[in-house]
Amino acid sequence: MNQQSCCGSKHALKIGLKSGQVIKKGSFPRKGKKRGVPRYYCKPCRRHFSLATLLWTYYQKKRHINSTVRRLLLSNMSLSRTAALVGVNLKTIELRVQQLGTMCQKRNAECIEKAFKGKRATHVQFDEAETFEKTKLLPLSLPVVVSNQRLILGFDVCSMPPHPVYKDRSEAKYGVLPDDRIKSLRKLLLSLKSWIGDFAEIKSDECPRYPWTVKQVFPGATHKTYYARRAKPHGLGELKVGAFDPLFAINHTLAKLRANVSRLNRRTWNTTKRRDRLMSHLWIFIESHNRYILRGLRREGLPLDVA
Ligand SMILES: [Zn+2]
Repeated sequence: MNQQSCCGSKHALKIGLKSGQVIKKGSFPRKGKKRGVPRYYCKPCRRHFSLATLLWTYYQKKRHINSTVRRLLLSNMSLSRTAALVGVNLKTIELRVQQLGTMCQKRNAECIEKAFKGKRATHVQFDEAETFEKTKLLPLSLPVVVSNQRLILGFDVCSMPPHPVYKDRSEAKYGVLPDDRIKSLRKLLLSLKSWIGDFAEIKSDECPRYPWTVKQVFPGATHKTYYARRAKPHGLGELKVGAFDPLFAINHTLAKLRANVSRLNRRTWNTTKRRDRLMSHLWIFIESHNRYILRGLRREGLPLDVA
């Protein structure tokens, strides 16, 4: 029998224990834990395993740092400063970013699915932020989709051509960079089809790349575009001047990313070195941000914007 289906995850373990296919089989002690880690035996697979095998912390030597590292990383702390503060090697933090990122991505999906209850968002906004990998000669585009209530539904990272100022130097050093912005946005919107309604209202700025891409993925949706206003001096380049901003949800969310994810700060020497770590770091922030928004809505007794 397939191992994954009966004893490969925590969810499978719960079902296995209920049906009697998996039975309890003692425990083993662990430092700092009163009760020890429970062990199990799977009858169909004839396999012994413990709860530790199924957790994302499996084989970690310093699991006690996990929660501190997560909170520091989503509080505008760089990887090397986190390592210095927690008192571990930078390599430990680098590995943890990757593991936390995978875990947070999964947990975020579960959290949103639980909140949406099979329904889909009716009002969403999207935009792209710009950052870079190592140097401004290698710019990255970061399309982000949020709901009207500022839940971050998804993001992607892709390469884009450099700013005209850096064009010659970038081409001399790295060749002509591909412009994947349309492909990336389409991929992102397609991946969010289960969370965004077919007839949703989608808002964005007047970038010429957007209308056709939105039409392709959501032919029934209403796409509203707005003139992109100048940014406030203190708005981290994202919050706009003037009073009412129809794209407030996305602009505020991007400003929050700029303020709290250290590598997205403006005017900093704290930069992304690897694209995959940027994605992991963002998932760590997004998971906590979405839980914060959902908690706020629950506390106020406000309904989610879904149908
Ligand atoms: Zn099994």
